[in-house]
Amino acid sequence: MGKIAITERVTGHTELIGLIAYPIRHSMSPTMHNEAFKKLGLDYVYVCFEVDNSTLEDTVKGLRAMKVRGWNVSMPNKGPITQYLDKLSPVSQIVGACNTVVNDNGVLTGTITDGTGAMRSLKEEGVEYVGKKMTIVGAGGAATAILVQAALDGVREIAVFNRRDEFFPKAEKVVAQLNEQTECKVTLYDLADHASLKRELDSSDIYIDGTSCGMKPLEGVVAIPDKSYLHKELVVMDTVYAPRQTELMRWADEVGCKNFNGLGMMLYQGAEAFKLWTGKDMPVDFIRDVLF
Ligand code: NAD
Repeated sequence: MGKIAITERVTGHTELIGLIAYPIRHSMSPTMHNEAFKKLGLDYVYVCFEVDNSTLEDTVKGLRAMKVRGWNVSMPNKGPITQYLDKLSPVSQIVGACNTVVNDNGVLTGTITDGTGAMRSLKEEGVEYVGKKMTIVGAGGAATAILVQAALDGVREIAVFNRRDEFFPKAEKVVAQLNEQTECKVTLYDLADHASLKRELDSSDIYIDGTSCGMKPLEGVVAIPDKSYLHKELVVMDTVYAPRQTELMRWADEVGCKNFNGLGMMLYQGAEAFKLWTGKDMPVDFIRDVLF
């Protein structure tokens, strides 16, 4: 908070916004939101709380009782918290998870801003996605939020690839729902089906990697077999932002693909949550300079 004394900054009027997750001490969200509150002169503070599934229900009860305006939710609480909320946005309902809660006079509404964050990041990078074909690798929380938002936002066709792990059956349900409820044609494949992966990437305009590959402990790991799966016209977005450049992005550079990391997605998911809590637009250019 710069040189402002805590006693000037935090008074009896100050309202709380939080983040509940475990582990969480590494998060950039407090800096993002507190800098934005300061910049706009809004009387809130944003604080991290180490909360896992075992203390989640009590935490939600407590935050509601204390009339906290809202909070972010991260792993491992994104899915489990939905059972303790009063309402879920349409996207949260399909994804079965939420990363943002808004408390309107005791009514708790959950939504997920990762997908809108990713779509805005594409837009800010000058990537046109309406009517285009996308391949998404990954079917966890972040990838599913992007999948649902992309289908709702006018992407024509999406190929989703995931390992046959615990995320696969959930993805089957989401894909069925999207094919029923949206104009987008969505198909789910096993990531081990390399022939389909090659064919779908060859005919895609945009490739989004939403797997844990590329960040610790999978730093240096790439979800697709090699760079021959990329083509020059493909836009590659890796949702990872630490490290800033992943091995996938290095391959994309070598092939000549436009590519970028998940920093934009992180910034814009935060900006949307900020707007939901405060009604104000986050000063994103200022925050980008502060954070990155
Ligand atoms: P998650 O645990 O819900 O999902 C993990 C996904 O990775 C699953 O699809 C899983 O099948 C896949 N996976 C794991 N190991 C793999 C491997 N060795 N090979 C292939 N696939 C593998 O996690 P999440 O919260 O959805 O996070 C996934 C990624 O999204 C992470 O890299 C995280 O950094 C990123 N993320 C970015 C933002 C952002 O704002 N930029 C926000 C949330 C998550």
